[in-house]
Amino acid sequence: MKRDLRKAYRLMHKHFGHRNWWPGDSAFEVCVGAILTQNTSWKNVEHAITNLKAAKFLSPRKIYKLSHKELAQLIRPAGYFNIKAKRLGNFVNVLVEKHGDSLKRMMNGSTPIVRNRLLSINGIGPETADSMLLYAGNHHSFVIDAYTKRIFSRHDWCNEKSDYDELQSLCESSLNQKSGPQQLDYWQDYHAQLVGVGNRYCKPRTPLCNECPLKALLPTES
Ligand code: SF4
Repeated sequence: MKRDLRKAYRLMHKHFGHRNWWPGDSAFEVCVGAILTQNTSWKNVEHAITNLKAAKFLSPRKIYKLSHKELAQLIRPAGYFNIKAKRLGNFVNVLVEKHGDSLKRMMNGSTPIVRNRLLSINGIGPETADSMLLYAGNHHSFVIDAYTKRIFSRHDWCNEKSDYDELQSLCESSLNQKSGPQQLDYWQDYHAQLVGVGNRYCKPRTPLCNECPLKALLPTES
């Protein structure tokens, strides 16, 4: 299993190259993207972030001062804009009121402590918290998403019932052969590679296995 998971990265990386994910000009933009990307395509998130940038509102203090209605309008392209405006508002309230607008301060501490800090914000779940930790906070916290679960279960690396924590601990314990910044980059790019495969090949109904870089790792029929 460990060997397969490590080989999977080599195959995906050979296919896509390093993906330089997560896109964003600042750690705060990464956090905003992590909230907005829930249940929508990245293209829609980009439109919403472009709106915030064009209106010069992409900063904690500026978003903090916006009304719910104003924020919802700006992020409308991301879909579920009322819910997401509430979640983004909750995140920014904590960032401004408890950490003096400083994401660095908010991300300061051991990974479990910062993770709990993020998870205690209403609307921030494990996937969003781990995306913020891994891509905005330089914390070693592997991100699991629906693509991860689909790919892993189709390859028998987990079963349909495996939950977020099980998958995260499987990835973190299997992909721990590096350390420091190399490990961080490895986990950042590993998740990005899975997103690439999930988005392009591992479709929900009809997986395009023949074109997929992970074809060699499909379980053999017995
Ligand atoms: S498309 Fe096929 S080969 Fe690729 S990850 Fe999905 S199940 Fe595996």
